Amino acid sequence: MEVGYIGLGAMGGPMAANLARAFRTKVWNRTTETALEHARQHGSEAVTDLAELGSCDAIFSCLPTDAEVAEVATRLAPELAPGTVWVDHTSGRPQGSREIAERLAAGSIDYLDAPVSGGVKGAVAGTLTIMIGGDQSVVDRVRPPLDAMADKVVVVGPIGAGMTVKAINNALSAVNLWAAAEGVVALSKAGVPASTALSVINASSGSSKMTQNQLTNLAATGAYPPLFALDLLAKDVRIANEVLDDVDLDSKLLTTIRQLTTDASEELGPGADHVEIVKLIEAAAQAKLR
Ligand code: NDP
Repeated sequence: MEVGYIGLGAMGGPMAANLARAFRTKVWNRTTETALEHARQHGSEAVTDLAELGSCDAIFSCLPTDAEVAEVATRLAPELAPGTVWVDHTSGRPQGSREIAERLAAGSIDYLDAPVSGGVKGAVAGTLTIMIGGDQSVVDRVRPPLDAMADKVVVVGPIGAGMTVKAINNALSAVNLWAAAEGVVALSKAGVPASTALSVINASSGSSKMTQNQLTNLAATGAYPPLFALDLLAKDVRIANEVLDDVDLDSKLLTTIRQLTTDASEELGPGADHVEIVKLIEAAAQAKLR
């Protein structure tokens, strides 16, 4: 099987590296140097022209939003053979994925929306969870490459359903991050060091992946490494709110977290990591987390 990977960012880079260990893997990135470096480091084959992915049996993409995927799909689709499978790992809008699927289906190309969770750590380790919208028979045809990147692959419904689950999942992670950051800054201001507080919370019912990983690392190092851009998280929370609107569910908490993450993303600007919302909470509290 020959596979192609589009978008070698924080997630796509390591996911494509895991593919390259098991399959002939062509990689394309908007900034070509990133693809060339990927080839040098991971034994993939860098292509500069998107059309060179035309020979692949399966295409994988991981771009910021479905808008960028729609753009590259429009350019690449005429080069792909009927029966090619396009697996999109982007966290996008469910409606966007249905539109891309329809456009690809015109050339007999099968599409799966297949967003991922597990972060950069999971992408590097090949232990991601992949939530898929689409037909099981199509998933079966790309199961070996999916298994090279993930520990858990779940078909959650028809095309668009993967994006729906991903958006709600990330809205929940935003709630967890924001609530835990407020709580730990409050504890720090009350005189309990963040690392001490987190060692208790992580063994207790207030624990989440955000307290176990992001906040524990921040308390230990004070550093904000680039893990997941805040503007991407804000995008996911907005999509989650569109999902709620679609099913006519009036949410208090997820509406509030949409406002908070959107405002924070505007205030901290492009390039800020999601964990940097702690800085805003610290400023409002006039106290430091550590
Ligand atoms: P990055 O910003 O690290 O990477 C984005 C990638 O998209 C880069 O390869 C970039 O190319 C490419 N790109 C951006 N704009 C365009 C464009 N107009 N045309 C073509 N390529 C473009 O993002 P992540 O890897 O963090 O995220 C990618 C997706 O995965 C997002 O939907 C995100 O929500 C999701 N996600 C992220 C997770 C994380 O922890 N980071 C976890 C789970 C999902 P270039 O190098 O040229 O800039």
